[in-house]
Amino acid sequence: MTIRQLLETIKKNDPKADLSLVSKAYDFAEKAHRGQKRSTGDDYIQHCLHTAKTLSELNLPLPIIIAGLLHDVPEDTEKTLEDVKKHFGTDVAKMVEGITKLSRIKYRGIDRYVENLRKMFVAMAQDIRVILIKFADRLHNLQTLYAQPANKQKRTAMETLEIYAPIANRLGIGELQARLEDAAFKYAYPDEFINIEQLIKKNFPIKKKNLNNMIRKAKTKLDKQGIKYYDIYGRTKHYYSFYRKFLKFNKDVTQIYDLVALRIVVDSVADCYAVMGIIHNTWPPIKGRIKDYIAQPKPNGYQSLHTAVFGDDQEIVEIQIRTQKMHEQAELGVASHWLYKESPKAGKKEVDWMLELADWLKEIKDNSKFLEGAKIDVFQNRIFVFTPRGDVIDLPEGATPIDFAFHIHTEIGNKCAQVMINNQISSLDKKLNNGDVVQIVTDKNRKGPNPEWLKFVKTRTARSHIEVYKNKSWKKFIPKFSNKK
Ligand code: MN
Repeated sequence: MTIRQLLETIKKNDPKADLSLVSKAYDFAEKAHRGQKRSTGDDYIQHCLHTAKTLSELNLPLPIIIAGLLHDVPEDTEKTLEDVKKHFGTDVAKMVEGITKLSRIKYRGIDRYVENLRKMFVAMAQDIRVILIKFADRLHNLQTLYAQPANKQKRTAMETLEIYAPIANRLGIGELQARLEDAAFKYAYPDEFINIEQLIKKNFPIKKKNLNNMIRKAKTKLDKQGIKYYDIYGRTKHYYSFYRKFLKFNKDVTQIYDLVALRIVVDSVADCYAVMGIIHNTWPPIKGRIKDYIAQPKPNGYQSLHTAVFGDDQEIVEIQIRTQKMHEQAELGVASHWLYKESPKAGKKEVDWMLELADWLKEIKDNSKFLEGAKIDVFQNRIFVFTPRGDVIDLPEGATPIDFAFHIHTEIGNKCAQVMINNQISSLDKKLNNGDVVQIVTDKNRKGPNPEWLKFVKTRTARSHIEVYKNKSWKKFIPKFSNKK
């Protein structure tokens, strides 16, 4: 791949884009990585170009694409983060720094899994753009995974299916999720992949022919009714999502209608429902297969009308109807916000994603203490820290280990004697940072919390527990004196 191909992709989305900084970033990265090879034998810069290309295909703003080109520079070359900052500014440098931090995973096994999740979560809390670059980076690593040893292939593939793809799903980036899953599938489950591939290849040509006839028919009908459509097209199901359905329907392939599906993109919500009427008039719908995700969106924001009909030749075909905005949301999820020049730190929506992710981590960790009763008012003022087991605890900015301890459990707070932050002994009044791993050391002989802690605790929970204890011990103290009389 060449820089020219990258520039062309960007131009296609935005003819007026100023490409000089992209070219400059390419030159910078190319020079820095010069002489380095990928395990495939390609020049290293190919990896940077492919990463940037994926980001440009998502129609993301230039700084993200530039950071994509530069993402491995500080980690793998003599150029430093400072150099990146000097030439490309703080914003790009910050993203590159985020990626660099994310790529250092030192554990194995379950610890690796937890650390991975933790890092993704923290990166996301700081800058959601870093995650998008990481997805693009991972996609190219998967595409070149054939050149890696078998154990690394399996590990990278499983990590993708268990961590990256679900996060992409939660962020609503259907397009990237599908690409990551399909690229990982054949290394994660090689035998199953071959089966599915054969199944699809066998069934696809017949279905496709029917589908093309249906597309023609649908277009004529819509034209007749004067309904404007942006696009009507057939799509093949992605391998991995087909595999998931295959398992869901106990490997009965006749149950899976949407091996190919028809997608209709129209102008307005009213048109969506009108089109559904026309479709059902043309081909009989199958009972129980109509789903209105417009009135009831999926948790990640996905909207569309779904139906399945007996098409021509009695072939069952799934049909999805949506507006263009819904389509962009479905393919790009969080990334679609930039299309509308909304701020990436837009507020409520981001908070919702974070809460959803938090929920999701909760499912994974199955820990009832996690985010217990947490009402995150303003996300910007929260930090996310971790227990040694990887559970996420959210606290207000400026919170200390004492706040953390009381958040976990009153007794942990009461008996708190010492704290380890990121495996180092620290003082109890130290302000916690996003991503810290906090371990409280308790002393069971300790009578109760130190009233001095009131000087620095941030949360109401910690404050009230310390005050209750202080008052109790003070009252105990008084009767002792009076009893002496
Ligand atoms: Mn990389």
